[in-house]
Amino acid sequence: MSSSKQLDVKRFLKLTDGRKIRIDSRVVKIGDVFIALKGTRVDGNDFIDDALKRGAIFGVSNRSSDNPAVFFHPDPKKLLIETAAFILKHSKIKHKIAITGSNGKTTTKEILASILSDYGKVFKTPGNLNTEIGIPIAVLENRSQLAECDYAIFEFGTSKKGDISFLTDLINPDIAVLLNVGTAHRGNFNDETELLQEKCSIFETLQKDSTAITNGDDKRIRSMISELSCKKLFFGQRNGDLKIMKFDYSKNNTFVAFKAFGEMKMAKLKGIWNSGQLLDFGAAYLTALSLKIEEPLLNINRIILPFNNRFSVENIAGIILINDCYNSSLESVESAIKSIAKLKKERTFAVVGSILEQGKYSKKTHEELGRLLNFFDHIVLYTKDTQVEAVQNTANIDFKSSNPEEVAEWLKKNCRYGDLVYFKASRGVALEEAILSFRRRLQSGE
Ligand code: ADP
Repeated sequence: MSSSKQLDVKRFLKLTDGRKIRIDSRVVKIGDVFIALKGTRVDGNDFIDDALKRGAIFGVSNRSSDNPAVFFHPDPKKLLIETAAFILKHSKIKHKIAITGSNGKTTTKEILASILSDYGKVFKTPGNLNTEIGIPIAVLENRSQLAECDYAIFEFGTSKKGDISFLTDLINPDIAVLLNVGTAHRGNFNDETELLQEKCSIFETLQKDSTAITNGDDKRIRSMISELSCKKLFFGQRNGDLKIMKFDYSKNNTFVAFKAFGEMKMAKLKGIWNSGQLLDFGAAYLTALSLKIEEPLLNINRIILPFNNRFSVENIAGIILINDCYNSSLESVESAIKSIAKLKKERTFAVVGSILEQGKYSKKTHEELGRLLNFFDHIVLYTKDTQVEAVQNTANIDFKSSNPEEVAEWLKKNCRYGDLVYFKASRGVALEEAILSFRRRLQSGE
């Protein structure tokens, strides 16, 4: 191995300028850079040749190679992270805002970015690049945007203890937002206290003049952060500097009444927002106020939640279909039910698949899910993943199948004009297949 092939931060920075960084060889396109990372199941080093064949300009590996397109670094992951830290250190970002929580991170990020875009240049982490690898990649790929932005919004995800702490150290935000601490991914943590501590670690680097923004309805979070010396702001339904008071739907619009620092306000939002999404709206609005934006409401009615499969409501042939299959958790089902109760309909149907990543809590989670589902007139289980079967311990179901066509067929036979059908499962369950098939049948009148 010649020393010229060993990379350091400055050289890596130069070589990656204007290029996409990939860690999965299957998505490599001509001119991309491939970084070989060792995961729990696969070792990226085994895919360097594949990445180069697909057009990668070079690869980074901790294995020596005679191939001139393969650079050596003893720890490619560290190189990636140190390069991101270098970029952040040399960027003149005015405000760095970090957002985490069990539910609503992407929604809050999108709402906040939309509000702030009228007041300055905004960077937001794209898609769901929210991990210890995803965020450094987002930083490297968007370095010129970051160098001159006023507001940089980072979504922090966690799938194991220490993830948030790591990201907090890397980004060093001056505003940190913790939306909620629910049961999503709880199977990856030893107990609920560990999960709570993990999420609250987003506040650990905040200085006196920084701001922590969190859910005022959750006593556990309030007590966990009571000792923090930074400024603290709360949003919620019952307690907070910003309180969501009431909401309703009319003609595909959501009307929400809220109180911010004692002042009553009203917003009209395009489309149907569920109660959790309205809390996300509250968190984003409060964050904008903390940035001294006096009346964020001026722009709010143009915000359209810009993504599919997160409580997307449509009316096909007189039947309301709600696709909420981007993700699932008990709290997001609860929030959806509060909204479904307000939508006009004859009868309600729930088509549900498993809530994944619950580990030892799986049975308990699905029994709790069954209790929540008793709200619906009819329940259908999509059993492609079988954990959802435990719903039957606490709810009577009407039909179950692991075949999306059978589910669609059953719905077509049993639903009629005026009904509402709610689809919910974790992304890994791929419940969309049943929705697509049902929608096709409704549209074609099959
Ligand atoms: P995340 O990025 O944290 O995974 P998303 O914004 O993608 O969250 O939303 C995922 C799901 O959670 C959607 O079904 C959405 O309707 C629901 N949701 C969004 N915000 C909340 C909230 N504050 N409380 C409960 N559920 C929520």
